[in-house]
Amino acid sequence: MRAQPTASHFVNGRYVEDTAGDPFECVYAANGEVVAKLHEATDAIVNEALEAAKAAQPAWAAMSGTERGRILRRAADIMRERNHDLSVIETLDTGKPLQETLVADATSGADALEYFGGLAGTLTGEHFQLAGGDWAYTIREALGVCVGIGAWNYPTQIACWKGSPALACGNSMVFKPSETTPLSALKVAEILKEAGLPDGVYNVIQGRGGVGGKLITDRRVAKVSLTGSVPTGRKVYAAAAEGLRHVTMELGGKSPLIIFGDADLDNAVSGAIMANFYSSGQVCSNGTRVFVERSFREAFVDRMVERLTKGVVMGDPLDEAVNYGPMVSQTQMDIVLGYIEKGVAEGAKLECGGRRSNRDGYFIEPTVFSGVTDDMTIAREEIFGPVLSVLDFDDEAEVMARANDTEFGLAAGVFTQDLTRAHRVVAGFHAGTCYINQYNLAPVEIPFGGSKMSGVGRENSKAAIQHFSEPKTVYVGMNDVEAPF
Ligand code: NAP
Repeated sequence: MRAQPTASHFVNGRYVEDTAGDPFECVYAANGEVVAKLHEATDAIVNEALEAAKAAQPAWAAMSGTERGRILRRAADIMRERNHDLSVIETLDTGKPLQETLVADATSGADALEYFGGLAGTLTGEHFQLAGGDWAYTIREALGVCVGIGAWNYPTQIACWKGSPALACGNSMVFKPSETTPLSALKVAEILKEAGLPDGVYNVIQGRGGVGGKLITDRRVAKVSLTGSVPTGRKVYAAAAEGLRHVTMELGGKSPLIIFGDADLDNAVSGAIMANFYSSGQVCSNGTRVFVERSFREAFVDRMVERLTKGVVMGDPLDEAVNYGPMVSQTQMDIVLGYIEKGVAEGAKLECGGRRSNRDGYFIEPTVFSGVTDDMTIAREEIFGPVLSVLDFDDEAEVMARANDTEFGLAAGVFTQDLTRAHRVVAGFHAGTCYINQYNLAPVEIPFGGSKMSGVGRENSKAAIQHFSEPKTVYVGMNDVEAPF
């Protein structure tokens, strides 16, 4: 296997290394083994990447949308052909089970390349008929050099969700993955090159937040798209504002999932599993505050614990029989264990899990708390791990007020068989992405993103085009010019 990346950075169409950069390691979270040694980007590498992106962008934008789209769609085909190898790299990068990465990462990245590749040839401006025969039109223009900064939970997907719409619109990109998961984005860059992407249009450089900071404030950069936590979002948004740069912010959440007593029990439990334990709970849109109608709570918790006890297969994520992996890093494991301790200390009832697993690597047992109240730390702060909190409720108005009582607004969900209630509830959610009788699916065709502190802008769908391009307005005078003197 595994055709791992051959150097730390991919700049101007080739792998490059600068050993003067601070060294860091990519660690396989299932056993602590070092899978790659890399270097942070030095100032020279940052500059080379931005120069390459700046130089390549005008010619890329001047190509027809159809030509640009063809390259993106070719890259999508290559990603699908190599899905297995790319999934192994994603698993080594993140520790997520191969069973999951085979269906959720390179495939989702390929969907984005294909979708935006298809849209590239359809992008247009508008025509406006005005008084007296004058008229106007808009030209949809690329922004220029875009910076993408990624979180560690979906490195292939994030590289493609940002890169595909950016490139479809005629921008170039410098992408910085999380230092925890540096490998997958390099493979995306390599595949784009193989598909025919001109050198310099998509570059990947490594580093911690400091490297991201240098990219955001560079005068060559027109737009910054970040996927990360709210505290990082605040800093990046502020730094981008200094140069009035465009931003997209995909940030954290503490999303509510409301389960009414008339819901189908197994579907509701499946929804809550997808909302809390997929990727070992390391998903931004997770519905971690599970409000269950009081009369339904016992049945719900019993079935949840039974399904977790019988169904979770923990082990080496490269074994396709395994469906539950470790936390991405020791740091993340320690954060999550700290929250579990707080849950116990603040009086929540531990129904199952709650401990580090007795094996190598950063595994935490899937954890369910009941008796959680709105003021507990585990009900207020993003944990980003496999910790489900069950909160009781008695009526709809009460639960809606409690569900919305958070600074976050990424996602929200409801399970009920009463369709009128379902639509009323989602209309009342203060969240960017809502689910009825389903949870955590994010196909590329639909907008994805958050309100309130969870984000600015949207990824995926035609909405992403608005965030990676801008209209230039052209007024066309057809009459003599009137002037006051
Ligand atoms: P993070 O710590 O906020 O880091 C995100 C990225 O920003 C990393 O590449 C990080 O680099 C970089 N960074 C940190 N400080 C920076 C600065 N001052 N300037 C520029 N870049 C900076 O988030 P994470 O721990 O990687 O990921 C988990 C978070 O991401 C959670 O809050 C989760 O909800 C959120 N998330 C949101 C979405 C969404 O679509 N809404 C999707 C996935 C994850 P280093 O880490 O290498 O230092």
